[in-house]
Amino acid sequence: MSQAKRPHLGTLTVWGGEETYLMQGATQVPVVHSVSFGYGDVDEWLDVALEKKEGHIYGRNSNPTVHVFEEKMCLLEDAEAATSFSTGMAAISNTLYTLLRPGDRVVSVKDTYGGTNVIFTEFLPRLNIDVALCNTTDFAAIEAEIAKGCTVLYLESPTNPTLKIMDIARLAQAGKAVGATVVVDNTFATPINQNPLALGADLVLHSATKFLGGHADALGGVVCGPKELIKQIYHYREINGATLHPMAAYLMIRGLKTLHLRVRQQNKSAQTIAEYLAAHPFVKNVHYPGLPSHTHHDIARKQMRGFGGVLSFELQGDFDTVRAFLPRLNYAHAAANLGAVETIAGPPATTSHVECTLEERQAMGIPETLIRYSVGIEETADLIADLQQALNAVQ
Ligand SMILES: *Cc1c(COP(=O)(O)O)cnc(C)c1O
Repeated sequence: MSQAKRPHLGTLTVWGGEETYLMQGATQVPVVHSVSFGYGDVDEWLDVALEKKEGHIYGRNSNPTVHVFEEKMCLLEDAEAATSFSTGMAAISNTLYTLLRPGDRVVSVKDTYGGTNVIFTEFLPRLNIDVALCNTTDFAAIEAEIAKGCTVLYLESPTNPTLKIMDIARLAQAGKAVGATVVVDNTFATPINQNPLALGADLVLHSATKFLGGHADALGGVVCGPKELIKQIYHYREINGATLHPMAAYLMIRGLKTLHLRVRQQNKSAQTIAEYLAAHPFVKNVHYPGLPSHTHHDIARKQMRGFGGVLSFELQGDFDTVRAFLPRLNYAHAAANLGAVETIAGPPATTSHVECTLEERQAMGIPETLIRYSVGIEETADLIADLQQALNAVQ
């Protein structure tokens, strides 16, 4: 962007990263489906291949539409560079496999996203990579593990599905002190609510499938950070082949244009709904960082500009109550997703932690009557009335 003063996030979502790729007066970025890019001049082709000149050669490596999505994300996370992926899990796995070698050590927590947890417990140990998974909110214990030395410190805040908050600045500082690369999954917060790089992280990654795209119609992932690191991750991804599709990139660009409006509404709605549920006698526990009763409400206030659109709550009863409750919601898809314009509700057993066994979920402290509730952009009053009728019917 040519402006001297950095525009607000809500302007960057709309305008950021697009100007180079608008064509022939078009006001919207084109979806370039071409797999390869031809050159009349072999020397120019060579310059692009040797990265002396900007351009595209082959769609697995780079693509104009995909590039605009990466540019927009760079601006939103205020990073030097970004590279994108076919899914959020591809962003996470490609980042970890770029950074880690046999004999290395990772420090992370028990509450990471289910798929990430499988990488830590199943795939990395196979490569002789030691993984220490700490209690998510015991920051002193995490610092003690970090002090033993690690190559990667991997954080997620807020966590899925119990909305725990990690002190990113404090832990990033501890990670830096031992020379670790500090990675933060920022999917739940979005760049509108939280910028982990500004809190001291080296890399911030997202499942773009969720709030960034925002419409539950495209899978994607992205990682943002310093040029040198992103270049290494990009190199791993171009060979591994987990490339974002140009059509999905277009849907992400289009989704991002309303990110700030959606997230603002979702922040507001989620807060009101969390307060409503917390006062309901049939609800045992509400997990939302915007509630003053949340264990780390103070840290959330310090590091976030808004508390996000996802909350979770425990119903009285057992899994049969969940079976009866979910189908009664009129304004919530019972589905394994979050961050969309429609409200989405589901239990961890079929959503975030579908990869885990009952015993593993219990070990992680995830109750079976927990409902994850991702607030859409519907009118808040209608969502509350909907929850009320469903709670009345099952209590
Ligand atoms: C969904 C999700 C992922 C994985 O993203 P996919 O796009 O489904 O691969 C990673 N982290 C968090 C926090 C998520 O919610």
